[in-house]
Amino acid sequence: MSVQFKTIGSEDRKDSGVKLQVDGEHAEVILDTPGEKVNKLTRETWTELQEVIGFIRAKSDVIRSVIFRSGKLDSFLAGADITTIEVMKTVDEALGLIEKAQEVFQELAELPQMTVAVIDGACMGGGTELALACKYRIISDSPSTRLGLPEVQLGVLPGAGGTQRLPRLIGIPAALEMMTSGAPVNPSKALKIGLVHDIIPKEYLLDFARQFVRGKDKLRKTKKASLMGRAMQTLIPLKPVRAIVIGQAKKMILSKSKGFYPAPIAIVDVVDQTTGLSVRDGLKVEARAFAQLAVSPIAKNLIQLFFASEQLKKERGVGPVEAAGFQAEKLKNIGVVGAGIMGGGIAAVAASKGISVRMKDIQHESILNGLKTAGALFEKEFKRKKITKAEYLKRVYAITPTIEFTGFKRIPFVVEAVIEKMEIKKALIDQLETLVSPKAIIASNTSSLSISEMASQAKYPERIVGMHFFNPVPKMPLVEVIRAEKTSPEVVVQTVALAKQMGKTVIVVKDRPGFLVNRVLMPFLIECAHLYAEGFSIAQIDEAATRFGMPMGPFRLLDEIGLDTAAKVAKVIAGAFPHLVVLPLVDELVQSGNFGRKTGKGFYQYDSQGKPIAVRGEFSREPKNPSAETDKHLTDRLILPMVTEAVMALDEGIVGTVRDLDLGLIFGIGFPPFRGGLLRWVSTEGEQAILDRMYRLNQATRGRLIVPQSYLSRVQNGQKFYS
Ligand code: NAD
Repeated sequence: MSVQFKTIGSEDRKDSGVKLQVDGEHAEVILDTPGEKVNKLTRETWTELQEVIGFIRAKSDVIRSVIFRSGKLDSFLAGADITTIEVMKTVDEALGLIEKAQEVFQELAELPQMTVAVIDGACMGGGTELALACKYRIISDSPSTRLGLPEVQLGVLPGAGGTQRLPRLIGIPAALEMMTSGAPVNPSKALKIGLVHDIIPKEYLLDFARQFVRGKDKLRKTKKASLMGRAMQTLIPLKPVRAIVIGQAKKMILSKSKGFYPAPIAIVDVVDQTTGLSVRDGLKVEARAFAQLAVSPIAKNLIQLFFASEQLKKERGVGPVEAAGFQAEKLKNIGVVGAGIMGGGIAAVAASKGISVRMKDIQHESILNGLKTAGALFEKEFKRKKITKAEYLKRVYAITPTIEFTGFKRIPFVVEAVIEKMEIKKALIDQLETLVSPKAIIASNTSSLSISEMASQAKYPERIVGMHFFNPVPKMPLVEVIRAEKTSPEVVVQTVALAKQMGKTVIVVKDRPGFLVNRVLMPFLIECAHLYAEGFSIAQIDEAATRFGMPMGPFRLLDEIGLDTAAKVAKVIAGAFPHLVVLPLVDELVQSGNFGRKTGKGFYQYDSQGKPIAVRGEFSREPKNPSAETDKHLTDRLILPMVTEAVMALDEGIVGTVRDLDLGLIFGIGFPPFRGGLLRWVSTEGEQAILDRMYRLNQATRGRLIVPQSYLSRVQNGQKFYS
């Protein structure tokens, strides 16, 4: 359909992010943030939006309908410009900004005309709040179309009307789920929960919307709430019913967040307190809650973390002049050798990103298991309606198994994930070098072996690199790319690119025992045995760690990793760094045949489903000197040795920056994100205060826990990890 639009209003500002076009009775507001790939709600956008909305309101005798759409490809609106939240220092300042945003969307909601958000691509945060303030929402069927309110992930809440308009539109339970998880919904879910009115093929979306506002076409798919749904919509806002819903939501949030994250609870409270109020009154409650969260240290840490990972995503993994001019390829196919726990996981993740995988093992049984694991993963996504049947089948057929090396000749990238034995890995590299082209990259998913040593007899050592995935591969977001002595920068760039293509966060690390993540984690796992030897109880030690925010205590984590694996990795790392003193506790358990959760017995007893029941009788004891002071001592004993190791890793250049170190630990071991990272935590506590506590531990352990000289110099020079 062709329409004759005239650009008005802001046409004099040629770099305006909000354009208005009018064709007789019909207007279109086009969002197009200048110089950005995606639209963002900056301070200027809010002002421009308000002007445009004011203009439309003033012309209500002429303009009958308004379409809000994006001028960007595959993206509607990414949300508020997060830097505006980052710089909010006081509650009043935050209130001022959020009230303005609320006002703009309230004015939009109160426009007398027909307003339609036409959404193709990502629609997040403020984007969804804008759409909620429109009378209609029509979206494309594109796989990149997603609607979400992810503010909670930055430690805040949807403050531009989201907590008010969403529950009124889709009901309290669905709204709470969307807002407290921050997870976006795809088009079919958006339609199902009543968030949008129709899904239209991407190619016809705008045409359809233009016909619709002109009364020449009708909505087809608008979902009418079922009788039960309507009854629930009426009942849930009633106080006694609401109390149950709110209570359950809080219980679920607390079981996941352990009380460390105030934002999801604040969302539930705001919805609870504002049910039954007018939108305008509700907005006041929302604004106050938003402002309090926005200035909290937790939000600041989460925002910094977001910026840090966004920055990391843009990097290539080598220095600015290295591999200049080299362009990494988007790979269509890879080979995976070893179809065990890791190889199967790597194949599954690659296939789910549209990469064909040739999967090779020496045992039929392993191949079958690998295929089964990948198939089960795809099936789960299909059953949860995350992928279509066609996508499910595409993924299943993307992995082709082999016992021979057939099909490896033209593969540009091979990841080996065979058992952790240097001779076996070296022999495999020898064999692969005769099979693949000289340009193909060979990556090893070793957890502890030296890549340089592995490549020592290779014909082309420059194409051998480490690619350390974490277990379980589909869940764990980190990959450490290990640059060995001879790995070429181009190979690093391509490996980093592949890991990103697989959806992972990537840090490049040096080839030293334990690389970065296992090296820094190791003191945490070693220290618990020393504490146990001093008479503290396992429950007491594990609780000290989880109270700090670690996902698991060290004993539970040892059981989870597998005591046999943990013992082997500890030997490699402690063998290289003599200040790490390993007690025989874990080895003794391994010798008795108990490997942790996988054998049902470790430090804890596990039920048949692998759930921990309790600390096993022989390890159970009363807590020693239970007090707040003891708790503090235990936490320091577990966390400060990690700080020491992190500082040493930085000194050795294992990792390039403090930022990468913090991200590596958050994504690799689940170091609590609300603390912003291990070294950010040090800066928050104060470098000097941490030094004093390190000395105290040094004395308490008769010199065993060391204080790195470089840390002392840093403090003496007034250097901070983060200012
Ligand atoms: P696994 O025992 O589950 O799988 C290893 C597979 O390799 C088996 O299926 C075996 O049949 C196969 N294999 C052995 N020799 C082979 C050969 N020459 N050619 C082809 N296939 C061969 O082991 P896993 O846990 O998947 O570990 C694989 C690698 O990943 C190891 O280097 C390990 O250190 C590393 N890793 C493991 C974890 C973990 O938690 N399991 C985490 C990170 C890295």
